[in-house]
Amino acid sequence: MAKILSGKEMSEQLIQEQAVRVAQLHEQGIFPGLAVVLVGEDPASQIYVRNKGIACEKIGIHSQTIRMAEDCSQEELLDTIQKLNNDPKISGILVQLPLPKHLNEEEVLSTILPEKDVDGFHLMNVGKLSTGQTGVVPCTPKGVLYMLKQAGIDLKGKEAVIIGRSNIVGKPAATLLLNEHCTVTICHSRTQNLAEHTRRADILVAAIGKPNFVTADMVKPGAVVIDVGINRLDGKVVGDVAYEDVEKVAGWITPVPGGVGKMTISMLMENTLEAACAQAR
Ligand code: NDP
Repeated sequence: MAKILSGKEMSEQLIQEQAVRVAQLHEQGIFPGLAVVLVGEDPASQIYVRNKGIACEKIGIHSQTIRMAEDCSQEELLDTIQKLNNDPKISGILVQLPLPKHLNEEEVLSTILPEKDVDGFHLMNVGKLSTGQTGVVPCTPKGVLYMLKQAGIDLKGKEAVIIGRSNIVGKPAATLLLNEHCTVTICHSRTQNLAEHTRRADILVAAIGKPNFVTADMVKPGAVVIDVGINRLDGKVVGDVAYEDVEKVAGWITPVPGGVGKMTISMLMENTLEAACAQAR
């Protein structure tokens, strides 16, 4: 039976540590602040944004949610971001994705100042990550790496296989694991003989968005299986991994819920604290 990599436990520990750090920063006159911009009424986005606000409250970070109408214009959105760029109370800015189709996501993300880009999606931060420089690392892959390290899993020389090549999860996760000296394979919807790749993986990351996609026969016995997926199935939240089958063969596994999702929010808090410190310097 696989050991559980609990994002819930790790994030609870992190909340306590971060609360102490925030109190220390306050004593030094540094007041971290996070602004979240939400465009439209997407129900899942509303939940994510609310959870981010709750996390800020728990550790003592000032938070602000800016709600904009579904039909707001590109100019209105860019103007809002510019104001937040110039606001000294705000150390981090996050625009909740996905945006309504009429808005240009690329332009929106590159309008956020790179030092306030706590999601790590600005091209400057993407470039820094892929060239091994210090920049802001996207929260979900950063959380995945944190979990692996926290569990003491040795990464050097290991075969890592990632299913999914999105800019927000798959690609940055691959870069981070490559930087940790894994041998990395990225799979996607056109990959042939997917299971042949996944069965080689010592570390298998599933970021697909399809419920119960990864089955036990796709997993090498003893592998570390990281389930990034968040899917709704019959009223329940499930991951991309068929948990009950895969836990019988894997060495480690992350549950959904209570796995990577929790760490994503913790890493957002981490990025906001780091941004506040960097701006104070
Ligand atoms: P995207 O839809 O952007 O990417 C999905 C990837 O999966 C694509 O690269 C796609 O390939 C690949 N894929 C789709 N079908 C197959 C298939 N049959 N075989 C192999 N690969 C396939 O999703 P995201 O990366 O944004 O998110 C992935 C999942 O993670 C979602 O469930 C999302 O909700 C969740 N998520 C969870 C977070 C968390 O905090 N836990 C944060 C962000 C996302 P191709 O490129 O060829 O289309």
